[in-house]
Amino acid sequence: MRVLITGGAGFIGSHLADLLLAQDAEIWAVDNLSTGSIGNIEHLKNHPRYHYQIESIMNVPAIAELVDRVDVIIHLAAAVGVRLIVESPVHTIETNIRGTEIILEQAAKKKKLVLLASTSEVYGKATKVPFCEDDDLVIGAPVKGRWSYACSKAIDEFLALAYWKERRVPVIITRFFNTVGPRQTGRYGMVLPNFVRQALAGEPITIYGDGQQTRCFGYVGDVVEALAKLIRTEKAVGEIFNVGNDEEVTIEELARRVIQITGSKSAIVYVPYDQAYEAGFEDMLRRVPSLEKIGRFIGYRPKTSLNQIIEKVVEYQRSQSAAGSRS
Ligand code: UDP
Repeated sequence: MRVLITGGAGFIGSHLADLLLAQDAEIWAVDNLSTGSIGNIEHLKNHPRYHYQIESIMNVPAIAELVDRVDVIIHLAAAVGVRLIVESPVHTIETNIRGTEIILEQAAKKKKLVLLASTSEVYGKATKVPFCEDDDLVIGAPVKGRWSYACSKAIDEFLALAYWKERRVPVIITRFFNTVGPRQTGRYGMVLPNFVRQALAGEPITIYGDGQQTRCFGYVGDVVEALAKLIRTEKAVGEIFNVGNDEEVTIEELARRVIQITGSKSAIVYVPYDQAYEAGFEDMLRRVPSLEKIGRFIGYRPKTSLNQIIEKVVEYQRSQSAAGSRS
């Protein structure tokens, strides 16, 4: 199987390449390194079945050529991270909508399978527990910058399904719920790499809001296994799947576990949302996936517990800082 991974140097894309190469696939990765990093794919550069291009998905001729070479496109390239989204809304909306449009247009020419990475953020402010794939999306007002991400990804989903219904382009949509693991950077706001970095540095751990909001953290290794199965599952075409873990934890509890696992002496500090992001910022209180559908289609169950995930992230960050201090 020949696979194009957009956003291939990102943290999910690089783990996906590791797995697909081990399953004998040939990989083409494209990434403009806006949030991805060459360090994530350094170990793959000399692999005979791995090819990469530092290129934007907005470069239509380059993408057309890459799409031609492969059987499947896994479209992970996007503007992600709440901090990046709040600070760069134009970039977010343009990258997410136009980028996906280009991928679908090119895939449509040869009817290539596209797996579109979407996000649990599309459920927006809905309060249902757990979220099922056909639930309503409750997106906040456009004056609140964060919702541009949910809205742009929701449009991507509509567009992908439209290509399937109207032009028979095979598409599969996955909604990721707080995917975490080694190689994820905290630079764009993601909570777990930030907490671990703070704990290892002995800096205060910054909880935004009161810390009673909950999330479910999916281990990247489990998530990429699900993607690898979905692209080989014919009946998944035209469907949307939640992917992640359904173990729910408050952000305060996450901070406590990070402190406990690292043995850190860091204090916990509470930062109001308007200082952390922007005035009027809205967070969601609970976000839990129903994993019933993906379980039914491919037998998916997450294997990695939250404590194991934290341990892996801690080990990764320690090895990175050891490598950094050696060089
Ligand atoms: N968060 C936090 N401290 C941080 C970064 C994030 O308390 O340093 C909170 C954030 O407000 C949210 C949760 O952790 O409630 C998850 O944030 P993240 O950006 O990782 O993902 P989100 O679920 O918001 O997309």
